[in-house]
Amino acid sequence: MSDMNSNNPVPFKAETHQLLEILIHSLYTEREVFLRELISNASDALTRLNFETLTKREIQDPELELGIWITADPDAKTLTIRDTGLGMTAAELAENLGTIAHSGARAFLEAARSGEAKVEDIIGQFGVGFYSAFMVADWIRVTSRSFQPEAAPAVWFSTGADTFTVGPAEKNERGTEVILRVKDEYLEFCKEERIRQIIKRHSDFVPFPIYVGENKE
Ligand code: ADP
Ligand code: MG
Repeated sequence: MSDMNSNNPVPFKAETHQLLEILIHSLYTEREVFLRELISNASDALTRLNFETLTKREIQDPELELGIWITADPDAKTLTIRDTGLGMTAAELAENLGTIAHSGARAFLEAARSGEAKVEDIIGQFGVGFYSAFMVADWIRVTSRSFQPEAAPAVWFSTGADTFTVGPAEKNERGTEVILRVKDEYLEFCKEERIRQIIKRHSDFVPFPIYVGENKE
């Protein structure tokens, strides 16, 4: 990806674009499931980090606590989900957050395209992954530092429209930080009480500690 370090906009793959269009314009009301998807990605990244630790001689920040930290800033209208999992390089950000590798998202897209099911009925069923966060966010910024000690930190940014950018970033610790700028209609997701409620409902069995604000869930 030649443009990657110059912050040039990269178009989403056609099917990703289509998925985003469907999600953003759907009448789906259970939009809170976006948080389950982001927490599940953080948990996967922590599990994969554990695996890498078994086989790699050197990893970035081996002493870091493995966990998930969620903070909300109602004034800035942001919600931040941070993990100390395996992180992503610039190339991995572009690959993983530019395409649909995820089987659930592809199955969802096929079902939605076929017109056999109503989109609203099947979003929850398939678990559409990272992109579901665009149901509640005006933009998303993902800053990450890979567990590979020599990899430079990088940042991915998109408004969920046609393109995303990837460029160099500053991040001292291993892992991934996802910042959502929450849409004005969904400012409930900038309230820690509401976040705790969603975690209890949808992410009760995550095998890593989840901290919301100052508290541990
Ligand atoms: P899935 O989790 O089913 O693969 P997603 O759309 O949820 O699909 O995520 C796409 C990919 O982005 C993941 O497979 C993973 O490679 C990467 N990813 C997303 N969030 C994180 C994260 N917090 N840490 C590391 N990688 C991540
Ligand atoms: Mg996922």
